[in-house]
Formats: sequence, structure tokens, C-alpha cells
Amino acid sequence: MASFFPCAVGKHKTDTKLATMYVAWRVPGGERAAFKLRLCPPHYLQEQITMLQQHLPEDGSEPLACYQCGQTADPRDTDLMFVTTYVPGREAYQTTIPLCVVCAVNQRGRIRALGELLPDRGVGGGAPPLSDPWSEVP
Ligand SMILES: [Zn+2]
Ligand SMILES: [Zn+2]
Repeated sequence: MASFFPCAVGKHKTDTKLATMYVAWRVPGGERAAFKLRLCPPHYLQEQITMLQQHLPEDGSEPLACYQCGQTADPRDTDLMFVTTYVPGREAYQTTIPLCVVCAVNQRGRIRALGELLPDRGVGGGAPPLSDPWSEVP
């Protein structure tokens, strides 16, 4: 079945089912900004690489370094980005991405430009999510 929505990155229509990514972060004042991206398989992979670069600690411990530049930031200066991904036919999964202030600004700007602002708590149209995307957000 052809997808009704274009891919958020390429803006192209596709015959493939699109993955959905919800990206959220806190804005000063304690509120959350949340965006939804619909992605075709190649652009989904590209986003995964862009957002989750290779700065994960090898021992599996909680990373403090910024995922984008790899710099260790003061925890008070670390901004978290919460990503929930729904790939067709798979379990939803959630990732928390720590970013330094500079990279957070860059990533947020990018997501704002690509995504669709969610007015509410993250459940958009289309198939209902497998779980509440916010259930594990602290
Ligand atoms: Zn695409
Ligand atoms: Zn950084």
C-alpha cells in the first residue's frame, strides 16, 4: 500500500511503509517540545546515524559525553533528547540522547525544520503506537 505521507527528510512519496520517529526535549520552563518525523528506510537509517553517532560507551555504561561531538560535558550543561522510534513490524524503542549545549541547538534546529510539531503528548495520526511514547520519559 502506498504511503499517504511524504518522507520528512526527502519530502518524497514512497510505496514503502514509513517509520515514525518522535523526538522530544525539554524547553526552559519545564515544558516539552515534541516533533514527529515520518521516514522512508534510507532516510531513517541516515537519521539513526546522524542522531546516534558513535559515542556510546563500549562498556554499556550511561554515556555522559555528547553523542554528536563526543565531548564530555558537565551534566548540568547536557541536554537530553528523547527519541521514540516505530519501525513497521517491529517493537517500538526509545533512546535518550545526551547532547552538549552547542549540539543540542543544532539538532533541535534540524528536527524543527524537518518534523511536524506535536501540539499534545505525542500520539499523532495513523496506526496507534504500541505503547505510550512518554511512558518511560522521566
Ligand atoms: Zn526519504
Ligand atoms: Zn556536542
